[in-house]
Amino acid sequence: MTVSSATIPSATKARILVIGATGFMGQFVTKASLAFGHPTCLLVRPSHTMHSKAALLKSFQDKGATLIHGVINDKDQMEKILKDNDIEIVISLVGGGNVLDQITLIDAMKSVKTIKRFLPSEFGHDVDRAEPVEPGLTMYKEKRVVRRMVEESGIPFTNICCNSIASWPYYDNCHPSKLPPPTDQFQIYGDGNIKAYFVDGNDIGRLTMKAVDDVRTLNKNVHFRPSMNCYSVNELASLWEKKIGRTIPRVTISEDDLLAAAAANLIPESIVASFTHDIFIKGCQVNFSTDGSNDVEIGTLYPDEKFRCLEDCFEDFVPMIRDKILGGPNDELAKTNNKSLLEAVPITAMG
Ligand code: NDP
Repeated sequence: MTVSSATIPSATKARILVIGATGFMGQFVTKASLAFGHPTCLLVRPSHTMHSKAALLKSFQDKGATLIHGVINDKDQMEKILKDNDIEIVISLVGGGNVLDQITLIDAMKSVKTIKRFLPSEFGHDVDRAEPVEPGLTMYKEKRVVRRMVEESGIPFTNICCNSIASWPYYDNCHPSKLPPPTDQFQIYGDGNIKAYFVDGNDIGRLTMKAVDDVRTLNKNVHFRPSMNCYSVNELASLWEKKIGRTIPRVTISEDDLLAAAAANLIPESIVASFTHDIFIKGCQVNFSTDGSNDVEIGTLYPDEKFRCLEDCFEDFVPMIRDKILGGPNDELAKTNNKSLLEAVPITAMG
């Protein structure tokens, strides 16, 4: 994080309400809001006082966050919270199953009339352009409903289209960046050559905070397209092999396989399968240009801001598979086949 709360007086910073701070993406944005010195309130569902996420919330409190208990689908409560805390910017990171809860929040923001910017729970693809198969399509349709309501409400907005989180894109997993890339077998989607953009979670948080009150992002879709982090699955596999100093067999997951996984309608796995199909078969992240009047690119807005490169991001996973790449007790393959490979190729991550 290049900006610290110690260097920026918070009195000059907009007052922010983060909704979903305990969530996967919300943690990155909350961390960045606090680091940028924004007076930061976190809306927390009441159950969390007894929950394992309490420790995370305490760590945010220790950095200056104010916790407010409530839910966004209670209009009167939200109006009171927005007014009592002089909230100027609302950032929502509710999960895919709660996208429509934002409708009541929009009503509350409309009533108080003081919100200078709303960032709805987007943080993925441009949902007006991408067209995944079901069940992912339902989530996109809901995000589109929210977009239209925000546009009609007159509340100033910014849609963050940050593309994929930097990690191995498992097609059957909900929050992929919690898992290391494979060590036994790569599953390659189609021919493995369609590219996508991968962004470190902390970069998503930091650059969201740069954009949050920038006049150039007002009523725009902000696209994250770091060219150095544009990789196909084949290239991702090679990157990981280089990092761990060993080759891994590849199997093909065909378009039909992905469509079948989506059609199985297991939630959330099938939603992820439908997005994986959209990204790595249809090319939904790379098959359009961002020069429309509603589009801006984060790299163009902030040319001096650096993205963390994917090679570094993958470094974070190496300790998680240390046993396996060193031929530890859990890895029969390494014990039998790969000793010579491990000896031949230096494993820089271990150094
Ligand atoms: P999570 O399910 O991890 O977290 C959702 C958060 O929202 C939780 O803190 C939850 O609280 C809170 N919440 C949900 N409903 C309400 C409500 N009614 N009132 C108050 N708080 C509520 O979500 P994700 O981080 O997975 O998703 C956030 C956004 O990011 C989504 O739009 C998703 O599509 C996108 N995303 C993008 C990814 C990418 O690679 N680009 C990856 C993952 C998500 P509680 O803790 O009480 O449940």
